[in-house]
Amino acid sequence: MRTQLDTVVGAALQQGSAVPAFTCYDFTTALAVVGAAEESGRGAILLVAPKTAATPNGLRLIAALRGLADAAGVPVAVQLDHASDPQVIADAVSAGADSVLVDGSSLPYEDNIALVRGVRAALAAQGRADVVIEAELGGLAGDEDRAFGTGAADSAGSTAADGPAGLTDSALVEDFVSRTGAQLLAVAVGNVHGKYKGEPRLRWDVLQDIAVRTRIPLVLHGASGIPPEELVKAAAMNVGKVNFNTELRTGVLAVLEEQTTAHRADGENLQALLGRWDSSARAFAATALATLSR
Ligand SMILES: [Zn+2]
Repeated sequence: MRTQLDTVVGAALQQGSAVPAFTCYDFTTALAVVGAAEESGRGAILLVAPKTAATPNGLRLIAALRGLADAAGVPVAVQLDHASDPQVIADAVSAGADSVLVDGSSLPYEDNIALVRGVRAALAAQGRADVVIEAELGGLAGDEDRAFGTGAADSAGSTAADGPAGLTDSALVEDFVSRTGAQLLAVAVGNVHGKYKGEPRLRWDVLQDIAVRTRIPLVLHGASGIPPEELVKAAAMNVGKVNFNTELRTGVLAVLEEQTTAHRADGENLQALLGRWDSSARAFAATALATLSR
């Protein structure tokens, strides 16, 4: 069913839980995520990568996800992830996205604020003031769509270019939230996109410091690889949305690699292979839903 993203997240936080968000590059994965959400009786968020949304087929995928979300038996939101191109944002919203992460985190502070305000004004002019906006303060290392070990030190011992970017400066949080009007805030507290090089070391002290400075829900990106016992602590610090991507892909690719030969031998049985894809993504989503509601 159609529900505002901030409403789903706010309701979860009131129950001491968080809502998982899953990157969907395709419809099979999205069907599995929504199926798991319905089985658990909890809401979920379908994320679309900006590279996907920048293509005509990506916009058709968003339209299909919109239909899937609206027909679901639980609240499901469709969010454009990490977007900074105003045209991609406008097109994705027209296609059916009901929320956007307006990501100016790589820009200077004032430019980040200006980007979010500009998108808000453009959406209002588009007649879509209802679109929920997440903004990001502090830079996340790594790549959203391709996972490599992140945070590696080079031979001289200094951090490589893909190493941990700046942590969110908690002193800026109040100013940033009030001036952007963001409804959710993505933070950088040692989390990374892709794979963690070694053990993830989340800065709970920084997260705590951010949580006391704003009332809007916080968002943790790059949750793949963070142990469940760590993730369950997040909701207590006002983290109401947790993004998963890498681990979902890892599971699907492993299943396809393992099962393709047998399914070729079984009369080129793509239908059954897609069933395996569904099972893998569904099991991952079910585990994430259960973990975040513990
Ligand atoms: Zn992200």
